[in-house]
Amino acid sequence: MKRLNKNKLKQIALERINILFQEAKSNPSKANRYVEIARKIGMKVNIPIPKEYKRRYCKHCNNYFQSGNYRVRTRNKMVVYYCLNCKKYMKFKINF
Ligand SMILES: [Zn+2]
Repeated sequence: MKRLNKNKLKQIALERINILFQEAKSNPSKANRYVEIARKIGMKVNIPIPKEYKRRYCKHCNNYFQSGNYRVRTRNKMVVYYCLNCKKYMKFKINF
């Protein structure tokens, strides 16, 4: 019973994270706040942010990547995101 509740909780949390990222996309001015909330929800119930959203924000400062506030480069089979807000880098492996 306990496990069932926990799974349900995670499912709800994931739904909320999805909604928050959709909102972030359509509300650029509030996007960073939505990212912050989504990450907090994920941490609370111990679920990772879905892969498709992980590259949409800066993990250092929760800056939601929109045109003009980040740069993308590929280097040595890595995608490097440079956040213009906090001037930090994030690296991801290119996976095809
Ligand atoms: Zn940043």
